[in-house]
Amino acid sequence: MDFRDDAQLDASQVEDARGGGGGRRPGGMMIGGGAVGLLATIVALVFGLDLTGGSDQQQPAGQVGSGTNLSAQCRSGADADQSQDCRIVGTVNSIQSYWNKQFTSDGRRYTPAKTQLFSQATQTRCGYATSDVGPFYCPADQKVYLDLTFFNELQQRFGAEGGPFAQAYVVGHEYGHHIQNLLGDMNKAKAGAKGATSGSVRLELQADCYAGTWAKNAVSTGFLTQLTETDIRQALSAAEAVGDDSIQQRSQGRVDPDGFTHGTSEQRRRWFTTGYQSGDPRSCDTFSGSI
Ligand SMILES: [Zn+2]
Repeated sequence: MDFRDDAQLDASQVEDARGGGGGRRPGGMMIGGGAVGLLATIVALVFGLDLTGGSDQQQPAGQVGSGTNLSAQCRSGADADQSQDCRIVGTVNSIQSYWNKQFTSDGRRYTPAKTQLFSQATQTRCGYATSDVGPFYCPADQKVYLDLTFFNELQQRFGAEGGPFAQAYVVGHEYGHHIQNLLGDMNKAKAGAKGATSGSVRLELQADCYAGTWAKNAVSTGFLTQLTETDIRQALSAAEAVGDDSIQQRSQGRVDPDGFTHGTSEQRRRWFTTGYQSGDPRSCDTFSGSI
């Protein structure tokens, strides 16, 4: 994954709430708990999509942007090649540039979504969330939430190869949920629904496919010079590592399709590949037919 040195980054698409006030509830209690609870949440929500968003939730934390000054640090593609923070900025820029163009050519209007970098916990319009849930998208405030330490877990806990493009795949997947939200497809999955052919699995596989269509078009956004076989292998390795069957096998020692929420390793690889080969979001119809 190599950025064009002269590509101009727009750091305003990423807000840095790390070390901010979002980490604690008004009362000072950290939510989270022990290892058992933590594992259960990860099983439920890896690359989570929180469908519980409602207006009766707590106010979002006011303290945003108390972390590093991304706009000062991340100005060009050269910066994106140098630091992880700036690479996330460049990745988000490329993804949104792609979708903006795609929506325009479909006669639609794209609404940008910010990514918030947080550490440990944050307040969202979907409620209070800890890092345990993994990266997620909140439809209620149209933001992607990302604790970068998840990427270490992706390698160490889930056994993915890792690397910059594994991270890009994760970000691309979360923006896939934003696309679903903009297109009104999110209600195709019922909150809490599980099972091998559930709406939840179909929604998640479509988000993987959308990550693939961006990957195919990433170079043409002008932010990246090229994608290599290594990049694609990193994405596929990440997709595979977070398959429901792999996670269940690792955590419970058995596979229970009734508990699937995101799709199997094979399905997640395959739908990313479908998007990557076609480069066309229309190939990402996971709602009609078999998956
Ligand atoms: Zn997801």
